[in-house]
Amino acid sequence: MDPIVTTIENRCKRCYLCVRRCPAKAIRVENGQAKVMAERCITCGYCVRVCPQHAKRIRDGIVHTHEMLGGEEETIALLAPSFPAAFTGVRPLQVVEGLHRLGFARVYEVALGADLVGAEYARLKEADIMPIIITSPCPAIVNFIEKYYPELLLVLAPVVSPMVALARLIKAQWHPQTRLVFIGPCIAKKREMDDPRTGGLIDEVLTFEELAALFRSEKIALNRLPERELDGPEAGIGRSFAVSGGLLDTARIPGGTLQNKVIVTEGRDRILDALHKVSEGNIEARFLDLLFCEGCINGPQMDNELSGFVRKDKVIHFLHHSAESTPFEKRSGWMDGIKPVDLSREFTREEISLPLPSDDELAEILAITGKYSPEDELNCGACGYPTCREKAIAVYQGIAEAGMCLPYLIDQLQKTEGELTASNVELKKSIETLRRTQAQLLQSEKMASVGELAAGVAHELNNPLGGILIYTSLLLEKAASGAQEREDLELIRAETERCKRIVRGLLDFSRQTRIEAAIADLNQILGGTLALVTQQALFHNVKVEQDLLPGLPKVFVDIGQIQQVLLNIILNAVEAMHEKGTLIITTTWDPAKQQVLLTIRDTGTGMSPELQARIFEPFFTTKPRGIGTGLGLSIAYGIIQRHHGEILVRSAPGEGSEFTIVLPEAEKMVMTDIELAGIEKDQA
Ligand code: ADP
Repeated sequence: MDPIVTTIENRCKRCYLCVRRCPAKAIRVENGQAKVMAERCITCGYCVRVCPQHAKRIRDGIVHTHEMLGGEEETIALLAPSFPAAFTGVRPLQVVEGLHRLGFARVYEVALGADLVGAEYARLKEADIMPIIITSPCPAIVNFIEKYYPELLLVLAPVVSPMVALARLIKAQWHPQTRLVFIGPCIAKKREMDDPRTGGLIDEVLTFEELAALFRSEKIALNRLPERELDGPEAGIGRSFAVSGGLLDTARIPGGTLQNKVIVTEGRDRILDALHKVSEGNIEARFLDLLFCEGCINGPQMDNELSGFVRKDKVIHFLHHSAESTPFEKRSGWMDGIKPVDLSREFTREEISLPLPSDDELAEILAITGKYSPEDELNCGACGYPTCREKAIAVYQGIAEAGMCLPYLIDQLQKTEGELTASNVELKKSIETLRRTQAQLLQSEKMASVGELAAGVAHELNNPLGGILIYTSLLLEKAASGAQEREDLELIRAETERCKRIVRGLLDFSRQTRIEAAIADLNQILGGTLALVTQQALFHNVKVEQDLLPGLPKVFVDIGQIQQVLLNIILNAVEAMHEKGTLIITTTWDPAKQQVLLTIRDTGTGMSPELQARIFEPFFTTKPRGIGTGLGLSIAYGIIQRHHGEILVRSAPGEGSEFTIVLPEAEKMVMTDIELAGIEKDQA
């Protein structure tokens, strides 16, 4: 079987973000490329999500599905319970019609399998034969325990996932001769499909992103289709399975905050912590529902940027849908009409243990990069390992390269730099590049963590703010004109709209908004932006000098968003000059790198290195309260990152500042990049 996640040769740019985030330490750095070790990989998809270069590829399911749909035999689609939340602006049952148009003979909801599995968990808990139960529908968790905590296999629930439960039911009782394609948000399902212990019943696994690509290639616009009911009986509470805590609901196991015997835990760090505690016998809980994603609705391959709340709303809304108007609580009766389905499964110890170095061996490896005493160990994390020792252990195990130590390399180069003669200009340049790369790496890691936090907060706030706006508008309609109450409500509305703008800014920064790209001329975008602002009073004493390269290669960008970037940088520059000075704007082209560059230089106050290190952080501002929000540059950073570009800054106190926007030229943006960046093909 082909590996599920692989690295695209030469696209990996040594940022080591995947090394840092992989919970299974399954990334080996070899010749500077971060490669996935299939035998260690648990297919959780973290590396696919975090890679800024989109250098991780997942095994394709489209070609095989396409072939099956063109063949003689009937093919059935099994839609994961998260499907109502998979596509923006599309009603769940339009997806069903879309699947029929692709050629699927029938479409079943995997929530039926979840109903069966939920009942099995209820029985297992009731029987009280396992001291602790760790749930097993998340294949990444199963893979993780099999490989890294095999001692916990005894407490892993021996119950198949809803996908396999439904596949067994269909093959044994409904349609023995058909082929089955599971469609969901999960990469790990591709591996579960290969697993001989669960029966090889699934012929292919498609992710929602792959399904979206199939719809696009067949020119099926889901939002224009009529709705069509699913095949088979209507599932009951199993439809909530994709939401965090859905398994407990389905199994009717109470799991409120007052329950310390039952816990639902998600996310890499919390999972690692929980498993560690269970293996040490250091936990009160007796029933642990563990998921690598925050509910399957937040799986790695959802094809939209909806917030977790909206996704949950959509799934719960569909839980209440019934063609026959039967409430979901009364729909579990369908299970009485079938013969019992075998829901048992086995697990295999796949224990992976890597050799550990002796103290002497460790010291020898540390010495390669000049670490002779604990003080030499900077533990800077730039190599992807939290400490120099952990990295040295990885070198011993053959999964890291000794040379992956930026501070050491820079030290070495600095030592030899003094000896360089004028003819070694190239080497000097390399040192400079290396220094810049280190600074950028640290910056990009910091911004990635801030971005995750910002996105979380923004998503949480967005919905309640929407609610406040709606209710304020309703109250405003009722309030008599001229009443004091009306003025207060107007104030609430204005302030809420301000909050929404801030939230929007955070989402822009954390790359949560979609870009609508078009082929464009950066000189023209600049012209349009300057026309917007130069008439304003704050430009009266500012001289704008332009040196624009004629025939600048085109870029593939969201024009509105790039205008916003330019606007933010230009307004900052004018403010830094206290509205008096010269703004010099140039555009150039780097043919070797196929990049277009736009530089904005001002004669303002300039910035100290400490200030420069913080300017892209959200809410960082040196301006008085009410004047600066500290979001302008962080938004610009997020937008340019999403366009596969970068913003370079050069500045010194008293010497003005220079911001350079670097964007790949349009020709360089191959289609896969564009799709991966979330840009709709049709909008090109
Ligand atoms: P805000 O403009 O609301 O403060 P930004 O994110 O746009 O937020 O900028 C953050 C900080 O970066 C500013 O408060 C300022 O201190 C600094 N800054 C940005 N651009 C310049 C510039 N051209 N010259 C000097 N300082 C700048």
